[in-house]
Amino acid sequence: MKALIYNNGIHYGERRMPEILNPKDAIVKVTLSSICTSDLHIIKGFVPRAKSDIVLGHEFVGEVVAIGDDVKKVSVGDRVSANCETFCGECYFCKRGWVNNCINGGWELGCRIDGCQAEYVRVPYADNGLTKLPDSVSYENALFVGDILASGYFGAEMCEIQKGDTIAVIGAGPVGLCAMMCAKYMGAGKIIAIDIDKTRLKIAQEQGLADEVFTPETCDITNADGVIECAGTSETFQLAWTIARPNAIVGVVAMYEENQILPLPQMYGKNLTFKTGGVDANKCDLLVKLIEEKKISTDFLITHTFSLDRILDAYRLFEEKPEGCLKIAITPTC
Ligand SMILES: [Zn+2]
Ligand SMILES: [Zn+2]
Repeated sequence: MKALIYNNGIHYGERRMPEILNPKDAIVKVTLSSICTSDLHIIKGFVPRAKSDIVLGHEFVGEVVAIGDDVKKVSVGDRVSANCETFCGECYFCKRGWVNNCINGGWELGCRIDGCQAEYVRVPYADNGLTKLPDSVSYENALFVGDILASGYFGAEMCEIQKGDTIAVIGAGPVGLCAMMCAKYMGAGKIIAIDIDKTRLKIAQEQGLADEVFTPETCDITNADGVIECAGTSETFQLAWTIARPNAIVGVVAMYEENQILPLPQMYGKNLTFKTGGVDANKCDLLVKLIEEKKISTDFLITHTFSLDRILDAYRLFEEKPEGCLKIAITPTC
């Protein structure tokens, strides 16, 4: 089969077809995948756990074409969305919902084992890693369930939102936009979007996700009940605690390329709670249900589409990030 392989740079070429290696595995024919900023982080060498010579990609939907003997929840022929994380469901961390730290998994697909920017992919612990899609939910509707939507939900959940809360989201890119829609679903009264990119702020407003928008220079808020930091720069890290009111929660979803400084003397007395983390993507079934019930929609995030045989062009475009580019969907080669 064809695949996008990371091995000292990225290459598009032949890869052997994945096979069932464990009774809990499933093989999924990829019908749509996407490129994520984390893929770029791997290519740039910012992901210590990443292995070389792997197929990249961890955000996808598809059709189950084979299952191992112990797979119970999905069957051959099912349309599914996939979780970006692999988790056993049985270890200390999984039992508490902290699936990102599963001792038998974590971020594996497209990082340590072959991922989804290919024709087929092997999904370990398929009963945990796959969610069956109802007929009314299309592949496009569900493409982001297992990664950026799960990350946005995770960020909003970290803020322990109370009804009517003011929630500031730093970074109005794909994850930030998802965080806004999830914060709204959880009852936030006012959502403030902050980004350097005015096009993205406009999208946040047009989609009805943000009530107020600011660029960092114009942002003078100091009363956010919760802050979701999705941008990942030193400036946005500082902004995150600056705009939080005393006793607020700052949820850090962003992945940084360098160490950040917590100026504790300046922050003393503000009594903030910081939460950080790689997404515990344990709400995929709920997210599919919310999409089915039309309570949230991520369809507008797909701004570009490329077929798999043009994935190198897609990467080039994603890296350039032209104005208005949010997410690229990769379709099978026709
Ligand atoms: Zn990702
Ligand atoms: Zn586990």
